[in-house]
Amino acid sequence: MHPFESHIRNVPDFPKAGIIFKDITPLLQDRLSEVVAAMCADIDWNEVDYVVGIEARGFVLGAAMAQLKGKGFIPMRKKGKLPPPVIAETYTLEYGTDTLEMIQNQKPGRVVLVDDVLATGGTLRAGMKLCEKNKLEVKALALLINLTFLNKFKEDGLPVKSVLNY
Ligand code: AMP
Repeated sequence: MHPFESHIRNVPDFPKAGIIFKDITPLLQDRLSEVVAAMCADIDWNEVDYVVGIEARGFVLGAAMAQLKGKGFIPMRKKGKLPPPVIAETYTLEYGTDTLEMIQNQKPGRVVLVDDVLATGGTLRAGMKLCEKNKLEVKALALLINLTFLNKFKEDGLPVKSVLNY
């Protein structure tokens, strides 16, 4: 068992029935610097300009990674939180749709896209599309947890880095 696993709480039926929610707050409280170091490992930082973090736990992890590696940070938020001009990407959920937004980017660059959990992959795919629309080339994807039993996430030539795999 990975030493981080004992710091993750499995919460059944949250936020809705049938989902086993991975609560990483004890892990952040107990092991933040080790987690951030593990998420930064095996990424070629020479080819990265910025870290993009997906709201909200991707902000915590992504901003800490950016700080550790001396890179800038760009937030990707849920609809309606960022002031204009924004670029948006809408994606399909099990029921309905959701939208991610970023401030329209004036500085093209290469990025690592960060989130805490990869489940079905819908969020991450939308995040990748939004980066590309916004002149940001995705060089790597970094997750703390990949729920591999829910997805077959694979991108040709693009490293998908995850610290814990279930
Ligand atoms: P998905 O688009 O299905 O890959 O879902 C990924 C997003 O939903 C991430 O931003 C996660 O924070 C959140 N998420 C999905 N499933 C879980 C889970 N079992 N535990 C914690 N967060 C989850």
